[in-house]
Amino acid sequence: MQLTLAIIKPDAVQAGHTGKILAHLEAAGFQIRAVRLVRLSTAQAQAFYAVHRDRPFFKPLVAFMTSGPALALALARDNAVAHLRDVIGATDPADAKPGTVRKLYAQNKERNAIHASDSAENAAREVAFFFPERELVELG
Ligand code: ATP
Ligand code: MG
Repeated sequence: MQLTLAIIKPDAVQAGHTGKILAHLEAAGFQIRAVRLVRLSTAQAQAFYAVHRDRPFFKPLVAFMTSGPALALALARDNAVAHLRDVIGATDPADAKPGTVRKLYAQNKERNAIHASDSAENAAREVAFFFPERELVELG
């Protein structure tokens, strides 16, 4: 089992897609180990996406991620990081495969419904960003 982090982004929470996306992730074999509805501060969003701080889309990305509540999820399954990237689809929903979360629920390249960690190293860092170890539930 491997852990990865997903965030159902403010566009999808606002649109009422949270439940459908959770069902999609569970149907794809992920177990929810921790969940928290968060309203990110500007400092938190800047820290979370620090790798993109020099990109032209950084400021609007931080504005978007702080625009409303988002749902942070620690998810477990075998090969979770790579599998979740497959399940969410390409960054731009126009390029995402049919049946992926972004093809189904994203509006555009920025308002793209869901985040997923992109490596095992970043998954560990990002899970710890939202959840202290004690909040990760052990599943029987
Ligand atoms: P995420 O990290 O949110 O899972 P990703 O790994 O598919 O998405 P990244 O390249 O890490 O894509 O970009 C982070 C986020 O920044 C994207 O999900 C999107 O919301 C936004 N973004 C990326 N590229 C652009 C762009 N060219 N224009 C506007 N927003 C963008
Ligand atoms: Mg990314």
